[in-house]
Amino acid sequence: MKKIGIIICARYQDCGGGKCFRALKERHGGFSRYSADEAVEIIGYSNCGGCPGGNVEYVPAEFSKNGCDVVHLATGLLVGYPPCPNIRRFKAFIESHHGLPVVVGTHPIPRKYLETHRKLTFWDEADLKAFVIPLMAEQRDVLESYD
Ligand code: SF4
Repeated sequence: MKKIGIIICARYQDCGGGKCFRALKERHGGFSRYSADEAVEIIGYSNCGGCPGGNVEYVPAEFSKNGCDVVHLATGLLVGYPPCPNIRRFKAFIESHHGLPVVVGTHPIPRKYLETHRKLTFWDEADLKAFVIPLMAEQRDVLESYD
């Protein structure tokens, strides 16, 4: 059983989580690392609390109380305009302070975001390509289905 906590960007705090939950069920994007026959459970779902992300200091502790094995930073942190400037800091803090591994990404990059980012330099400027590439591995029609 893999117990997963998800932290989303507060810019999307009203998001119902549909893309993340679908991606987990279908093992797409950041969840493709888990095999289809590996049991998974979402043990927490929250947002960063708004820039600069104060909730990241506390919410992983709540995840840990529910037996969290891994924290996923939602794809929205990467695809926002601009992407979150604190992704690497969040990952480093959660891993060192809370002792929880962090995966950057949940659902695949939606096609419409991918096309816009291809005209921009945000991912290169912030050296985020290593996080982005695994989230665009699915076929174009799958990326489009996450629009
Ligand atoms: S950009 Fe980063 S710090 Fe700001 S609201 Fe989004 S996740 Fe939080």
